[in-house]
Amino acid sequence: MNNWPLVKYPTLNAVHGVTTNSGPDFAIDSAGAADELGERLLLDKMAWVEQVHGGDVIVADGNGCIGKADALVTATAGQGVLVRGADCPLLLLSAPGNDGKVVAAVHASWRSTVREITRNTVALMAGKFGANPTKMDCIIAPSAGVCCYEVGAEVAADAVSRLGENAKQFFRAENGKLFFDLWKANSDQLHRCGVPPHKITVSGICTICCDGTYPSYRRDGIKAGRFAAGIGVGK
Ligand SMILES: [Zn+2]
Repeated sequence: MNNWPLVKYPTLNAVHGVTTNSGPDFAIDSAGAADELGERLLLDKMAWVEQVHGGDVIVADGNGCIGKADALVTATAGQGVLVRGADCPLLLLSAPGNDGKVVAAVHASWRSTVREITRNTVALMAGKFGANPTKMDCIIAPSAGVCCYEVGAEVAADAVSRLGENAKQFFRAENGKLFFDLWKANSDQLHRCGVPPHKITVSGICTICCDGTYPSYRRDGIKAGRFAAGIGVGK
């Protein structure tokens, strides 16, 4: 039953896992799927959110859907957090804090990225729980790569208006088309918070053009499922 594949990243020093298309579909039964992932990670509680493509982060305490946001943070033993996606970058973060480990899961869609969801998450981890960014381990799970993630000019304009001229480096132009490098944009937010480059692992797997291991909304349309990235503070 619960023997579906769970991808682990050796550089991430926390209980965690990323599901694939062979695992539970978080689009159909998010609550049931979250419970299954919590069981697999041996965590007591698994919190998730209604993802709204904003910049808000919440502190997780509980099981099930705990609100509307795009990132969750916890430092409580036995508490897990997860985010769901099908092209949007999902990040998992872990760092030592004031009282043990502090972890976070981030849903960094382009709208959340330009609202600095990743920077806001690191700021909450540091401000509330004493997480040290220089000791933070970060992974960016499989998601739409700059090879495929085409966007309109209005997306680049919105990014520059919110993030400044620095955001221009996140876009690649080719044959009149524009591609958004969300991996680079989120890595940049981590660097600016003080996370050293060697502490950031980008999976480098593009959900759109990879072999179908992960669901892709751009590739599969409305029938695309959702996979999840979960992390927790072990007991
Ligand atoms: Zn691609």
